[in-house]
Amino acid sequence: MKTVIPFVAQTHERDRQTWIAALGAAMPQCEIKEFAALSAQERAAARVAIVADPDPSDLAGMPNLAWVHSLWAGVERIVGELPMDGPTIVRLEDPQMAATMAEAVLAWTLYLHRDMPRYRSQQAEKIWREHELPLPSERTIGLLGMGALGRVAAAKLLQQSFRVCGWSRSGTDVEGVETFAGETELDRVLGLSDIVVVLMPLTAQTRGLVNAKRLSAMKQGASLINFARGPIVDTAALVEHLDRGHLDHAVLDVFDEEPLPAHSPLWNHPQVTVLPHISGPTNRTTASAIVAGNIRTYLQSGRIPPGVDRARGY
Ligand code: NAP
Repeated sequence: MKTVIPFVAQTHERDRQTWIAALGAAMPQCEIKEFAALSAQERAAARVAIVADPDPSDLAGMPNLAWVHSLWAGVERIVGELPMDGPTIVRLEDPQMAATMAEAVLAWTLYLHRDMPRYRSQQAEKIWREHELPLPSERTIGLLGMGALGRVAAAKLLQQSFRVCGWSRSGTDVEGVETFAGETELDRVLGLSDIVVVLMPLTAQTRGLVNAKRLSAMKQGASLINFARGPIVDTAALVEHLDRGHLDHAVLDVFDEEPLPAHSPLWNHPQVTVLPHISGPTNRTTASAIVAGNIRTYLQSGRIPPGVDRARGY
């Protein structure tokens, strides 16, 4: 008999069915079942569930869950919604996602490094004007967050000869990266970087961290890329720093409210590039294989992968 694994998600019906098919193909020994389709017995028997933005009341309906496996890397919502003594939350750590995110960091770093927003607006005005092009080795990229994603992005930038600074809570050392740690060293990284890339989780400590004071600590004419979560950056303060010329450009993939509302001034701001949360998408095939591997190990040995530190929030 196949082991039933609940799938708890609030995404669109078609998206849920596509996930169930991909997960089912990756773990043929299991039956992946939507929460609504589970019998009372199956709900009581469930020890592990696969989740994507789950409704917490659905999870509460499975009182014997030991752990949940998220399909996303960012888990701030579920961390905020599940009780502290609830099931262990395992987030997705997929090397393919890290590679895809590193590609995005490089792509949008090059977009800024090669002055693409400026040449695009010159074209609109039919202006033929060349600007100074510094070498990558003369540009410092500051990564805020040196975790699963930040470390791979750092390596990619180093391959392209950019200078890289990495800032994290603990000061994770990565070869070739100048390392900074803790709140006291944040202003130093900001002051050194020509492009600041936000790649850390949204937690009680990081919410609003990149505020007016921190933006003022950035180099005159520097740019910001936010690929992590919208609320880490104070949007009003960012717009103010762009408007008065302290900052040159912002590439934003994540926002306080998503989709970005039509009335947001960011849509039409000449110094802002708006992306629809596309920098590091979960790949169904590679993610399903990772989730399947973790669940297979659990079913065979009872070993639960390392979970999110609930007190730290990530
Ligand atoms: P991770 O492996 O948990 O790494 C988080 C990094 O942030 C670590 O280096 C950590 O420091 C640092 N950090 C956390 N809190 C900090 C604080 N208060 N001060 C300084 N540093 C702090 O996370 P990840 O896999 O790299 O992912 C990062 C985030 O990217 C996710 O949480 C998610 O929100 C976002 N994301 C976005 C997309 C997208 O498409 N836009 C896709 C995937 C992920 P330590 O090293 O000291 O622990």
